[in-house]
Amino acid sequence: MLKKQLFRRLFITGFILSIIALQVQSSPEPINSPELIKSPEPINSPELGNSPEPVKSLEPIKSPEPVKSLEPIKSPEPIKSLEPVKSAEIESAPRDNQGRFTNQSGELSHGSLSVRLGFYLRRFGTLFRGDDGAPKRVVNEGAFLRDNNSTPTVTWIGHATLLVQMEGVSFLTDPIWSQTPSPLPPVGPSRWVDPGMALEDLPSIDFVVVSHNHFDHLDIPTLRKLAARNADTVFFVPLGNADLLIKKGITQVQELDWGETAQYKNIQVHCLPTQHWSKRKLSDTRKALWASWAIIGSERRFYFAGDTGYFAGFKLIGDKLGPFDLAAVPIGAYEPRAMMAETHMNPEEAVQAALDVQADTALAIHFGTFDLSDEPLAEPPQRFKAAARETVFGVDKSWVLDIGETRKF
Ligand SMILES: [Zn+2]
Repeated sequence: MLKKQLFRRLFITGFILSIIALQVQSSPEPINSPELIKSPEPINSPELGNSPEPVKSLEPIKSPEPVKSLEPIKSPEPIKSLEPVKSAEIESAPRDNQGRFTNQSGELSHGSLSVRLGFYLRRFGTLFRGDDGAPKRVVNEGAFLRDNNSTPTVTWIGHATLLVQMEGVSFLTDPIWSQTPSPLPPVGPSRWVDPGMALEDLPSIDFVVVSHNHFDHLDIPTLRKLAARNADTVFFVPLGNADLLIKKGITQVQELDWGETAQYKNIQVHCLPTQHWSKRKLSDTRKALWASWAIIGSERRFYFAGDTGYFAGFKLIGDKLGPFDLAAVPIGAYEPRAMMAETHMNPEEAVQAALDVQADTALAIHFGTFDLSDEPLAEPPQRFKAAARETVFGVDKSWVLDIGETRKF
């Protein structure tokens, strides 16, 4: 075991050195070192929380607007029954003069060369980073969730992966069951905590929403398993991402631009802005779009912020589509600020984002699962709770779940 570990670390060290030269030339995707896979914790039964269930007034459906003039980079065969319409009164994603997607505030800073170089060099230190302060994991065998057809629930699988049930459908956000989010596993960021539920134990999944193509959010092995498990599962992705899935044999894909809405049964799936970027290889920076998602039914309204810096768009989303019963906001991967501030919110900004979209309850995601950045492992949830306590969310409506925990919302 030790030999294997040593070999792996030597391999990683060589790999990291070779990519530093490449990475510092362009906008960086956090690269990290793997550690030993943690063994599962003792079995605990998940609990359903007893949060109040305020009935939200229905927002009228916006009337469709003319289709935008911008041509998507990729145009897959749309799924006929799910043709998106422009309906949220939110601007399409902007593009730069090379046709690449950009942000509402233009191109973002990823820090100076020296900041980025320092960051990647510090990744070596994480070869021996322990898992003190990682989230607790409770084993969830999913029996209640597989039978559930009426209770709105959210289950944290880990990182930005949530299983949400509302209005009689089950969907996943940014599903990743892989141990290492990386183009070259097992080289890549360590997983500190195993997924909170086995993929095989999931209820039948109606659809998946993917926020963007970074490896910790768009995990091809997981998406292929989900498609193989249920051929009817629909994968909603932002513009420019469908071809990647289709090439991997996943055909039930629907691409949306910011401000577009697809109707899935009785639910509206809204593709909405974030402030982020995309990249899976050296030549594809910002060629595929990034997004957040609002999933809106007649009884529940859910917002998934994906992976984003804090930006003015949250207020607009709240104005156009709020209030939400539950908003999942990313609270981790924010240090060093000189590199991360524009693309990753810190916990205080995440609380503000949940306020901006007019959430009843804020749910912390995107922390404690993969080793992506410099902040101490236990810090994001502590700062999130402290910041939320000072707001209308208070203690009861700022949720930090255990991995594998299910709550009613
Ligand atoms: Zn990302």
